[in-house]
Amino acid sequence: MTGNSGTAAESFEPVRTDVVVIGLGAFGSAALWRLAERGVRAVGIERFGVGHPFGSSHGVTRLFRVACQEHPGLSPIAGRTRDLWQELGGRYRHELVRQSGCLSVGSPTSTPITGTLAAAGAADLPVIRLGHDELAARYPQHAHLGASDEAVFDPEAGICFPERAVRAHVRAAAGHGAVVYPDTRVLSLELTADGVVAHTPTTRVVARQAVVTAGAWLGKLVSGLPLQPRRVPLFWFQARDPRDERFALERFPAFIRELPDGRVLWGHGSDGHQGFGIKIGMADQGHNFTDTDPDALDRGIHPATDIAQLSEWVSDAFPGIDPVPTSAAPCMITTTPDHQFVVGRPHDDPRLIVAGGDSGHGFKHAAGIGEVLAQLAVGETPYTDVGFLRPNRFLRRTSARPPHAGQSP
Ligand SMILES: Cc1cc2nc3c(=O)[nH]c(=O)nc-3n(C[C@H](O)[C@H](O)[C@H](O)COP(=O)(O)OP(=O)(O)OC[C@H]3O[C@@H](n4cnc5c(N)ncnc54)[C@H](O)[C@@H]3O)c2cc1C
Repeated sequence: MTGNSGTAAESFEPVRTDVVVIGLGAFGSAALWRLAERGVRAVGIERFGVGHPFGSSHGVTRLFRVACQEHPGLSPIAGRTRDLWQELGGRYRHELVRQSGCLSVGSPTSTPITGTLAAAGAADLPVIRLGHDELAARYPQHAHLGASDEAVFDPEAGICFPERAVRAHVRAAAGHGAVVYPDTRVLSLELTADGVVAHTPTTRVVARQAVVTAGAWLGKLVSGLPLQPRRVPLFWFQARDPRDERFALERFPAFIRELPDGRVLWGHGSDGHQGFGIKIGMADQGHNFTDTDPDALDRGIHPATDIAQLSEWVSDAFPGIDPVPTSAAPCMITTTPDHQFVVGRPHDDPRLIVAGGDSGHGFKHAAGIGEVLAQLAVGETPYTDVGFLRPNRFLRRTSARPPHAGQSP
């Protein structure tokens, strides 16, 4: 445990609350909203501005899927997220999720096909299977399909809007009485006998519990969890022929496509009215992106290492798209060894709840995870089984010691 005695902050009276939420990105902003909506006294602290582009939740859009190939247990969380976003979006007249569909493409034994079918089966979701010929006829934008490639179309899937959602969560939280400190970095988190103290340069926040949702920085505030931030840039493209409307979102829906040699691409079509282009990225397959320290993220975009390979893949899989990106943005994911999130109380510590380790597929679950975090904080049973996300799966069972809560440099 660390403190920061001797700083100016120590000379002021601390702020007292029930729950302090540290990091107002995808998971934290939603947790603050769901806590405040329950009437819980809560303070949210964010080191940058709300909806900023320096963590993991920027870049206008994310794929939204309900039949989640990553784990069948994620479908109820995505479903709850959709319901909460539809309600919140209606309240503020903002589109937070668009159910424009998602196509999972690959061979019958590929993860996009087997994983999506397993999740759809477990949750009884109405997905549509397309055989090779039907896929090729309906979506000719997808070129060079493998001989056995097929597709699963999830009509409840589509895209969601990260910055908009984060801002809407925080607005709703504040509307229910949550206190929000933007541009305030938590320097250290101290675990005390009966709660926590979050130290910032300007104040101390004393609370019964902390919900730590610091994204790529989570490991700097709560150590002991196997979290690895990775640099994964975002890229946008345009059709070779600007008059080609086949790459508009309604005709070129969100997709995850495993190519015959195992490479995986994801993306979605453009929307001129909303001002976003065609988005395409490579899945993190271990070798194509690099580990990073979030405080030293390389924010440059490098033609040789970032663009060349992606352009080659795009030109092969989608010949109608100009393989030279029109824009790019650095971003980060935070991986865990099993590529599932960590959500819950490390070592069952009553003072501490974490959510992170997004492993590149977390935004679609933001509001549903926020709901789980709020339920854990107030002692409710979560609306769905999140046992497979428990941080304790990575912590030694014999140790009763809480993970070290420490300083973020
Ligand atoms: C290229 C790319 C593509 C992706 N595509 C998809 C997709 O299609 N679908 C999908 O569902 N997901 C996708 N993801 C993943 C998704 O974006 C992440 O899962 C999600 O944004 C993670 O949210 P988070 O709350 O963990 O982190 P963040 O949203 O980054 O939130 C963490 C917050 O904590 C704050 N913070 C950190 N340290 C401190 C501190 N000391 N004091 C105060 N505040 C602090 C940070 O500033 C930040 O705002 C993608 C990610 C990337 C990079």
